[in-house]
Amino acid sequence: MSNASEIHTHVRTRIAPSPTGFLHLGTARTALYSWAYARHHGGEFVLRIEDTDVARSTQDSVDQILQSMHWLGLNYDEGPIYQMQRLDRYAEVIARMLDEGTAYRCYTTPQELDALREQQKAKGEKTGYDSRWRPAPGKTLPRVPEGVKPVIRFANPLDGEVRWDDLVKGPISIGNREIDDLIIARADGVPTYNFAVVVDDWDMAITHVFRGDEHINNTPWQINIYRALGAPLPLFGHLPVILGDDGQKLSKRRGAVAVSAYEDEGYLPEAMLNYLARLGWSHGDDEIFSSAQMVSWFDGSHLSKSPAQWDAAKLAWVNAQHLKQADDARLAALVARQLQRRNLVASDEGQLAAMCALFKDRCTTIAELADWLAMYFAPVTPTAEDLAQHVTDAVKPALQSLVLRLADVVWEKAGIAQAIKDTLAEHKLKMPQLAHAVRVLVCGRAQTPSVDAVLALFAREDVLARLQRA
Ligand code: GLU
Repeated sequence: MSNASEIHTHVRTRIAPSPTGFLHLGTARTALYSWAYARHHGGEFVLRIEDTDVARSTQDSVDQILQSMHWLGLNYDEGPIYQMQRLDRYAEVIARMLDEGTAYRCYTTPQELDALREQQKAKGEKTGYDSRWRPAPGKTLPRVPEGVKPVIRFANPLDGEVRWDDLVKGPISIGNREIDDLIIARADGVPTYNFAVVVDDWDMAITHVFRGDEHINNTPWQINIYRALGAPLPLFGHLPVILGDDGQKLSKRRGAVAVSAYEDEGYLPEAMLNYLARLGWSHGDDEIFSSAQMVSWFDGSHLSKSPAQWDAAKLAWVNAQHLKQADDARLAALVARQLQRRNLVASDEGQLAAMCALFKDRCTTIAELADWLAMYFAPVTPTAEDLAQHVTDAVKPALQSLVLRLADVVWEKAGIAQAIKDTLAEHKLKMPQLAHAVRVLVCGRAQTPSVDAVLALFAREDVLARLQRA
């Protein structure tokens, strides 16, 4: 049952999140690979919302997923398609399968299933459904109980093997004897994941299914359902899990796993994509690249078979690299939003862009950039240690003459630099002595980029007022 002969020429991929929470980092990586693969081949990328777990699916989650996809720039050509709007289609396929004998009604109650499992365990047997309602030549089925709504089960092939050549893991095979007859529709008619996913991927002409390797055990059932339907098989690529910093599966308990949390913390979407791309894929030694570069390289090769490890420090580094390259006007808009959350208003966008240009090299996130720039929009409180260490009696007279000079100069970097230079000469001080004192008073910290450039971005009266506190 190799599927090599079924390779499709027009690539179509999809991401199929279940709306039971935010967009998880693992799903975002799968979405990225699926998207990049489709884009690389000039194909289509589809977004499908797998909302058949009605009890756990929420609109809020759908909204969050769509928002994160949008933020990451993973644009889709079709969708969102909702499974719960396709119930008629699933019912139609089920009717056909019942007709053709590839599916059957099963009236086993949950209590009977529990009892069966206990018996199997007691005998040391593998647990699973025993096919008691599966029709077979010469077999007498149990009497249909009254008032029990049946589930629908797939009549899995009894013999032979399911094999596929996984795009990531290589050849995989499993004997059909290992697999029981899966429930494909619940008693209320809502299909289960393994069935709906096949009907959808078939109807949507999906050619390449990338997903997390927690689904490897589902794939044999799905392949058998494709076969039963006479549908062409897609190729499957199962991506290894992402481990947390501690080597355990990345999970909520171990830090932020929602893409939206990284947006809130001030990571750039292109940096997230860059970082996620490298969690399970490589292109030579390239570490910093754009989505466009990834698309041009991502042909399905060099996918890693082994788990990737989340590395917050590396993500920060990748983000810092993209921050350096980012357009200042764009950063200004992003920083303005971060400042707004702190109730700080930056109304002059041009000025804010200049501030971003000056500080972005020393920041890893937009939030950190906002930490720096907050001093331009709110009073600062230097620490007692900094004041004692840098704003000494030896420097105070120089600060006073600097105030006088600054009151007069043309308010730009060169004028400010000259005022500082003249003050140093007059008071026979070294640059660091005066510059540190100025920084502590005006910026609330002793280290900043070049002091003349930093001051030039303040309003003159703010600088004078802060210096006069000495
Ligand atoms: N709804 C499934 C999930 O979120 C989709 C798996 C698949 O891509 O087939 O895990």
